[in-house]
Amino acid sequence: MFDVKKIEDTNLMENPVIAQMSKYNHEQLLFCNDNATGLKAIIAVHNTVLGPALGGTRMWAYANEMDALTDVLRLSRGMTYKNSISGLNLGGGKAVIIGDARTMKSEALMRRFGKFVNSLAGKYITAEDVGIGTADMVYVNMETNHVVGLPGKSGDPSPVTAHGVYVGMKACAKEQFGSDSLTGKKIVVQGVGHVGEYLVKALVAEHAEVYISDIHEPTLQRIAHESGAHIVGLNEIYDIDMDIYAPCALGATINDDTLSRLKCSIIAGAANNQLQQEDIHGRLVMEKGIIYAPDFALNAGGVINCYSEVKGLSSEWAMGKAEEIYNTIGNIVKRSKSENIPTYQIANKMAEERIESIGKVKLPL
Ligand code: NAD
Repeated sequence: MFDVKKIEDTNLMENPVIAQMSKYNHEQLLFCNDNATGLKAIIAVHNTVLGPALGGTRMWAYANEMDALTDVLRLSRGMTYKNSISGLNLGGGKAVIIGDARTMKSEALMRRFGKFVNSLAGKYITAEDVGIGTADMVYVNMETNHVVGLPGKSGDPSPVTAHGVYVGMKACAKEQFGSDSLTGKKIVVQGVGHVGEYLVKALVAEHAEVYISDIHEPTLQRIAHESGAHIVGLNEIYDIDMDIYAPCALGATINDDTLSRLKCSIIAGAANNQLQQEDIHGRLVMEKGIIYAPDFALNAGGVINCYSEVKGLSSEWAMGKAEEIYNTIGNIVKRSKSENIPTYQIANKMAEERIESIGKVKLPL
């Protein structure tokens, strides 16, 4: 029997998913399920004021589905800010596929996911993220054109990301030391993977004194040998005197423990979510007189590279656009100083201001 009373009671309750969406004003969530392929995914479109929502697909064995929801909401919002501050005509979105990427991926699962992406008709454009490679994107592309990061297209974004980090680091040096030259500066690069390796090359070429660490010993030894960079221990990294700390491995390395040890004047690296708790550690960094280059503004080279693929632009264009990160970071740091507000907050404000002003342009005539 249709229980009117029950429906009425339910209507009085707050839907926890919609409540989470409204907290940061997410536009749309698409829950995807397909028993035949085992696909369980969530696509989050946070904001499309500037353009279609672009952000990667992550495949992860989340402890539970609410964790997946929290992650996709947080990551998609982050993409809105990253795309906005980088001056791209893109909104923010992200997708998560729930499951173990090593055991659960199949052609059918990825293609089924592609069909869901396609159902959004271009409002969301996907790319690779943790657990997803170019081969998976080829399957997604069989069902939708709303995908970037395909083989033979814009290619590995890491050189563009590293270039953006490098120029942004120079902008910080200009503000902190009065010159943007990195010659002779002691710089510690944590993680010499795709981005870290390119960054080390650029820093060595500018005659910086470069120190590197990595959990993968063969990579560490190879890069030290090829570049002449010095090796530093995984934990020792937080205790040595340095001018610049460049986290290029993991997130949350700026926390209570490391902040009591870090002896640097600038933090500028590629890793996402470097501040363990934005509000607390973003302010503590400022109070210690350290310039922190907000990660999402500094590492935007990757998404700039994706944008070049969406728009059919050249790799030279992408490198040129990444060059603008110098001015973006310089402006953030200047504003942070004049308003006495942590750099991460200034970066958020600048991203929000652009969305607000371009939103006016998009109003119908
Ligand atoms: P990667 O996986 O190629 O490299 C990461 C490196 O860090 C690896 O060599 C790994 O062994 C090392 N590592 C892991 N834990 C470590 C630890 N505790 N100490 C020292 N080294 C450690 O990744 P990547 O593509 O170079 O990206 C680096 C960071 O930048 C990631 O956080 C990524 O999310 C972020 N990022 C990358 C891009 C890009 O274009 N690749 C774009 C934006 C942001």
